Amino acid sequence: MPAFDRRTLRHWRDTALDLVFPPQCVACRRGGAHLCEACIAEFVPAAGSRCQRCWTLGRASLCDRCRDDAPAFDTRRAGFVFQTAVRDAVLALKYQGMSSVGSPLVALIRPALVFPAEEVPDLVSAVPMSGARRRRRGYNQAEVLGRLLARRLQIPFDGEVLRRVGAQPQQARQPNLAARQANVRYAFRAAAGQVRGRSVLVVDDVTTSGATLDACARALREAGAIRVATWALAIED
Ligand SMILES: [Zn+2]
Ligand SMILES: [Zn+2]
Repeated sequence: MPAFDRRTLRHWRDTALDLVFPPQCVACRRGGAHLCEACIAEFVPAAGSRCQRCWTLGRASLCDRCRDDAPAFDTRRAGFVFQTAVRDAVLALKYQGMSSVGSPLVALIRPALVFPAEEVPDLVSAVPMSGARRRRRGYNQAEVLGRLLARRLQIPFDGEVLRRVGAQPQQARQPNLAARQANVRYAFRAAAGQVRGRSVLVVDDVTTSGATLDACARALREAGAIRVATWALAIED
């Protein structure tokens, strides 16, 4: 009996599903693909004048915040501005478990994600969800993206490196930056054995204030990581 890996089985399952339910664009509902060319053309890359450390819009050097009280991550980068079809794609990924949408998105992003030789991460991880939320949803969309990106970068993915401790109210419900920082400040723990002396890339789906990625980076640094780069599919400016 031939042994099929999970990826092959998943591919067959997706192909069979596509025959029964032809794919439809998650943004405009046109048939043909989970994300159509016309909608992809509307994506706005997260470019412009941005802080070299935290990627906040404004100026092309370091922003005042990074100068005064630098975040724990070395860099934050994002693929697209969180608007138009990107928003629909992220929501499909988040609430419908459509990993088929993640793949083309990560393919679009990959060329822009270039690391200088001395900054290439040793491993890729993702912002973890609380155990309860993950059980309810069945998957973590940040992890889906992290795995896809790691595969393209040919860097190992390790989803066990970061752990959420305790349960925090949802970050999106926090009214401002100070509240967001306080809400997640002690929310993460990192496994020292896996990160000591290593350079880590942390992936999330959407980043807003950067407080969550900062808290993840802080935990990784405390566990001995020497460098923490962070990346999100979309940024909400
Ligand atoms: Zn479309
Ligand atoms: Zn900054």
